[in-house]
Amino acid sequence: MIEFNVAGLLNEFIGATREYDIDEMLGVQEEGLVAVEPVQGHVKFTRTHDGILVQGGLDSVFEVQCVRCLELFHMPLHIDIEEIFHPRVDLRTGALIPVDPDEMDTLISEKNLLDLTEVVRQLFLLAMPHMPVCTASCRGLCPHCGQNLNHGQCTCHEDEIDPRWAMLRSLLDQDAESGA
Ligand SMILES: [Zn+2]
Ligand SMILES: [Zn+2]
Repeated sequence: MIEFNVAGLLNEFIGATREYDIDEMLGVQEEGLVAVEPVQGHVKFTRTHDGILVQGGLDSVFEVQCVRCLELFHMPLHIDIEEIFHPRVDLRTGALIPVDPDEMDTLISEKNLLDLTEVVRQLFLLAMPHMPVCTASCRGLCPHCGQNLNHGQCTCHEDEIDPRWAMLRSLLDQDAESGA
């Protein structure tokens, strides 16, 4: 959980700020978003007239499967946050404020906890490439035998030679044999 108690900041004047360093595991693991390192970075909270503006930059590293060679590899991703969180409770009256269903992820709880987890999770999902490749030069798998060509050439290569070249090659081979 990337969570902060913002009771103090909510009681301050508009424009007041707090800054925090973050170094936390994301705390949610799901298919397509497996963090292997903590989320690290810096965020700034600014009191606005009706909530708290969160701004900052965060990094983490995710385990991703290469679409070419199907190997798992570690991909660093960066996100920039700029999101306004609104209090669940009216600060002056103490009454609950009606919740817009679209803003559930950016709601400050009744206990004044501001939880960045869901916003951060969604931003990392958006930052994740649709077709991740382990390296730009990844050679992928042989379509015939399935060998990972990054680990070396398979033997299928020989069979795929153009028949005209195969003919020439067998002549060359004969020459080589007779010459030996
Ligand atoms: Zn690859
Ligand atoms: Zn092959």
